[in-house]
Amino acid sequence: QRREKMEDCLFCKIAAGEIPSNKLYEDETLLAFYDIDPQAPVHFLVIPKQHISSAAALTEENAALLGHIYAVIAEQCRKLGVDEKGYRVITNVGEDGGQSVKHLHFHVLAGRSLAWPPG
Ligand code: 5GP
Ligand code: ZN
Repeated sequence: QRREKMEDCLFCKIAAGEIPSNKLYEDETLLAFYDIDPQAPVHFLVIPKQHISSAAALTEENAALLGHIYAVIAEQCRKLGVDEKGYRVITNVGEDGGQSVKHLHFHVLAGRSLAWPPG
């Protein structure tokens, strides 16, 4: 599903400011905010404001959006000072991928050594 806003979507509500979040960065197309249940010393999420259900729904038309998302991630990691030691960007897709919120989001984890492969 690809719509401007979905009524029962938690991250659409966070994007619209209807549910509060601890924001790092916001512009017309995306929002970066801290995860409510951090899995690393730094753990934030980046979401498009437009509802896209997961990475499985992306098309070539989203190329600019994705470039922007990764540029914002790099900029925020520089600002947080975690760019030197490194970080991980993850997007979970579907049941086996461990996706619990059905609105595209990129996890950014940093501040500790991260295991590979993930569980
Ligand atoms: P997923 O499991 O879908 O890949 O990731 C969803 C993430 O959203 C989880 O890490 C979870 O902690 C986070 N999350 C769920 N509800 C909220 C919320 O209301 N606020 C914030 N900031 N994060 C949330
Ligand atoms: Zn949504």
